[in-house]
Amino acid sequence: DLRNELYQHLLRLSMDFHQTHRVGELISRLTNDVTTLRATLTRDLGALLQQTLVLVGAVALMFVLNPLLSRFILILAPVMGVLAAGFGLFLQRASTRLQDELAGSTVVAEEVLQNIRVVKGFAREGFEIERFGRAVLGSVRAALRMLRIRSVFGAMIAFFGFSVIALILWFGGREVLAGRLTAGELIAFLIYGLTVAASVGTLVGLYASFQESIGASQRVFELIDTPPQLEDAPGALLIQDVRGEISFRDVHFGYEDEQHVLRGISLEIARGEVVALVGPSGAGKSTIFTLVPRFYDPTAGSILLDGIDLRQITQHSLREHLAIVPQETILFGGSVEENIRYGRLQASTTEVEAAARAANAHEFIADLPQGYHTLVGERGVRLSGGQRQRVAIARALLKDPRLLLLDEATSSLDSESEQLVQEALTRLMQGRTTMIIAHRLSTVRHADRILVLDKGRIVEAGTHEALLAGNGLYARLHAMQFREMTTLEA
Ligand code: ATP
Repeated sequence: DLRNELYQHLLRLSMDFHQTHRVGELISRLTNDVTTLRATLTRDLGALLQQTLVLVGAVALMFVLNPLLSRFILILAPVMGVLAAGFGLFLQRASTRLQDELAGSTVVAEEVLQNIRVVKGFAREGFEIERFGRAVLGSVRAALRMLRIRSVFGAMIAFFGFSVIALILWFGGREVLAGRLTAGELIAFLIYGLTVAASVGTLVGLYASFQESIGASQRVFELIDTPPQLEDAPGALLIQDVRGEISFRDVHFGYEDEQHVLRGISLEIARGEVVALVGPSGAGKSTIFTLVPRFYDPTAGSILLDGIDLRQITQHSLREHLAIVPQETILFGGSVEENIRYGRLQASTTEVEAAARAANAHEFIADLPQGYHTLVGERGVRLSGGQRQRVAIARALLKDPRLLLLDEATSSLDSESEQLVQEALTRLMQGRTTMIIAHRLSTVRHADRILVLDKGRIVEAGTHEALLAGNGLYARLHAMQFREMTTLEA
């Protein structure tokens, strides 16, 4: 349950959180920390109950047998209390450190295995093995430190425990010699004393485990207690029929304080209009795309859908009405069919196929070894770039959203593949309000309107012809691209 709850919470947390936390760290909390907690709750809790009963029973019997001698046992209590308090704190800290170190090595492994192509391409296996080795060494050191604290703690408790037994033997021996105690009573008393010592020993070990899991639980609850940055407003609307008009009203935005990525964007996009965003790198095009699905809220100004402020709409219903086709298509590791169906989970096989046809993907899928059931490999690596794009388009088509955010791929495909993708995109855009980050002339030409962004502002707007005639930034960007193209062709 804890693992599920943590996972649900991670998915609820906003983009802002995910951009600042490393995947390996989150996976480690979801696995290592929860496992530590589970061990305590399942194994140690039962042992705690058992040992407490043994301890209480043995101490009670000792008092019944000889109240005078039993008083020595009471000396142990304050000593143990002080030791436990002191060592408990050390153990907690050492455990948090160990869990942090473990997470550190998970971060390294996750990052490297995700980017294995880069690692191999640069022949950096040796470097990465060393980096992971260092991270693991960190965990080993932390584990050793914890072991040392545990051992010193255990040894000290054992020392005091056996000192008390020696004391009982000495004092009891004198009592036997004086004839106030029988030898049998002393032996019985000592056996109970050893039982107490054994269960105190076990309890000390358990205490140490509990302190360690407090360290792990702090790491788990720190995440569970993090509130999502963006939450639905109370009484937020569940939108159903969307026309698809978007307005930006003097939108300002920065990812961090004092940073100005967007500086006063005002814009009206009509239903079904295709608007292309162009502009130099870093102008803020992708940032606009993160604001429309409300991954972030503007720092000033507002964005409206059909006249309703996005902050008044539930995030889920807003995102149900839009589809994002990113520049780099990342697929899930399942089959082609599963990847397309991600657009609408309850779609039938016929609907999946229809979407694939409309996306010009059916032919290549049919040629795959197992057709629609072919596994695409981790993140879709077994498909080509153009094929992945068409699967992504099919997925968006199946979702059938009113709003479309299209980040055109920069990498050039060969002209046949390019044409297939373009056709698919044209079908996808039909009848939907579309914002497209355009890198290609052919796309820009087909847009109803082009917005030229520079340094977070819209500096020019109009059709391709009008902007060229205006002889501004667009004309310059266009001339540059045209030069590149002619050089390439030459
Ligand atoms: P490109 O054409 O190169 O993709 P762009 O116009 O899409 O560029 P954006 O990605 O919107 O540009 O970036 C605008 C600015 O915002 C950049 O200066 C960038 O450094 C900054 N930026 C982008 N994403 C983040 C982020 N997650 N956190 C902090 N700053 C960011």
